Amino acid sequence: MTASDAPSLNPLSATDVGGHIALVRARITAAAKAAGRAAAGIELVAVSKGHAVERIAAAIAAGQRVFGENRVQEAERKWPALKAAHPDLRLHLIGPLQTNKVRDAVALFDVIETVDRPKLAEALAGAIAKSGRAPACFIQVNTGEEPQKAGVAPTEADGFIAACRERGQLPIVGLMCIPPAAEEPAFHFALLREIARRNGIAHLSMGMSADYEIAIAFGATHVRVGTAIFGERPA
Ligand SMILES: *Cc1c(COP(=O)(O)O)cnc(C)c1O
Repeated sequence: MTASDAPSLNPLSATDVGGHIALVRARITAAAKAAGRAAAGIELVAVSKGHAVERIAAAIAAGQRVFGENRVQEAERKWPALKAAHPDLRLHLIGPLQTNKVRDAVALFDVIETVDRPKLAEALAGAIAKSGRAPACFIQVNTGEEPQKAGVAPTEADGFIAACRERGQLPIVGLMCIPPAAEEPAFHFALLREIARRNGIAHLSMGMSADYEIAIAFGATHVRVGTAIFGERPA
């Protein structure tokens, strides 16, 4: 049996990417229906971190337009040419952002999902005012309060959201979380939804390859799916 006959996600040929996107989209539609929601209200963010441009091109050819990367430098290598060729692509930053990379991030990304501290919010507001580009911003909440993970603590979320809004220039439109790997994600999705509800925030980025259907049941408006589309990331 050759690799292309194998049912496993890994390795994937470039042509499998389109099939996997179709499968993920069908599952999103089914999960939305089960939750009494419109599938059109759920954005699939294809997480292409660690994958080569050829595989991304296969996703674009299959009609995918929204992508996620977790490192500014990697995204700068891969995306300017793709965005020039496909002006309707939208790129989400889903990894931690250092303040010295803020200007580059604002220049390249359309959505920044990982705002998590006052210094970063300030730097973003400044870069947005200077550049004339205004990526939509999500606040990352560390729902599991894991010390090694980025994100504002749940108890500090309301205050941080209010502070970002007072500064005015930072367009906070959503919340994002990455639940602890070893825990049931449902509690974390429910917590994020509750913080968004009481602060009047419309968008919820939650759910990855293993749990995006659960996230949809809890109101996710953006699911970030990598492995189920592109296969295992190269080491
Ligand atoms: C890598 C990553 C994903 C995608 O994870 P998969 O399990 O491959 O779907 C989603 N969100 C964030 C923040 C990530 O870093």
